[in-house]
Order: sequence, then C-alpha cells, then structure tokens
Amino acid sequence: MRIGHGFDSHAWEAQKTKPLILGGTTFKSDYSLKGHSDSDVVAHACIDALLGPTGLGDIGLLFPDSDPKNENADSIEMLREVMARITDLGWKVINIDCSVIAEKPNISKHKEEIENRISSVIRAPFSIKGKHPEGFEQMNGIACFAVSLICEDIITERGRSVFANVIGSLRDRIRRIVKAGETNE
Ligand SMILES: [Zn+2]
Repeated sequence: MRIGHGFDSHAWEAQKTKPLILGGTTFKSDYSLKGHSDSDVVAHACIDALLGPTGLGDIGLLFPDSDPKNENADSIEMLREVMARITDLGWKVINIDCSVIAEKPNISKHKEEIENRISSVIRAPFSIKGKHPEGFEQMNGIACFAVSLICEDIITERGRSVFANVIGSLRDRIRRIVKAGETNE
C-alpha cells in the first residue's frame, strides 16, 4: 500500500480562450485558465498523485508541453491513460481526496458531478472540497492538492484476461461434453 500526493496550479488568462474545466466538468465562467492542455487542475493533481507512488514520474514527463498531441488535450483522457498504466503495473486505487483552492468558481455547485466523473475513471471513491484562499487574496488562478491511496491489485488486468480465457475454454469444453452426451442418448 502506498500514499501519493499531487499538486497543480494554473493562472487565469487575461481573456477567456477556452472553457473552464475542473474535474472533467465545465463551469460557467467568464474566465479560463492558462495552459497547454484543457488546464484541468483537478485532473492534473490526481494524475501526479498516482504517478508519484507508482514510480512513473510526473505529468510533465508523460504528457510534455512540447508534444503538439497534448495541446488542448482532454485531461480526463490523460487520467484514463495513467490508470491503464498503473493497472498494468498491478496497482489499484483505494481512494483520492482533493482540495481546490480558488476564489471562484464555487466548487460545491458541481461537487457530486465531479466526484462521480473522476470516481468512474479511477474506479474508486473520489472526494473534492473547495477552499477560499484566506490570506492569499492575491492568488491569480486555481490550485489543487490531491492525496491518493493505492494498493497492489491481487488480480492484474493481465491476470483478469487469462482468467477470462480459462473460463471461456472451460465453458466451451462443458458445452461439447453436454452435446456429445445428448447425441449418445
Ligand atoms: Zn496542470
């Protein structure tokens, strides 16, 4: 079992150039966040909270800004890719908890939607809390901290597919035996 930690922040853009997306959910906003991808700080903090404890580095290593493929990339898809990688290594997520530090927007408005969205991707409980940046009023953007708990999965994805194949061939064999029995009668 291992604990992971992720942090991310993006600054506000002078003018809105794209939708404001947090945890895969679009917020109604007159502002957008600077960034190469869709600037989803919540998804990015979650990604780092999973890459750290599994020894896979960090988001910049896997999805570099220099790669045009990552321009305006959907961060939920990036999180999905990270999940596939850690699952391949035999890890599963127990839960992720995160705090978003932002003057705006109001996270609680979409709390349930974000929790369901991320939870379905990480296949584990996800919780999110919005915090006002008391004492950091000059903050010009949004920050997010995420903590993850992961553990070794007893059945890896590969193990699961081997198991499915064994069950499939057993089922075929039983069908053949039953059929042979029927024709003998
Ligand atoms: Zn980011």
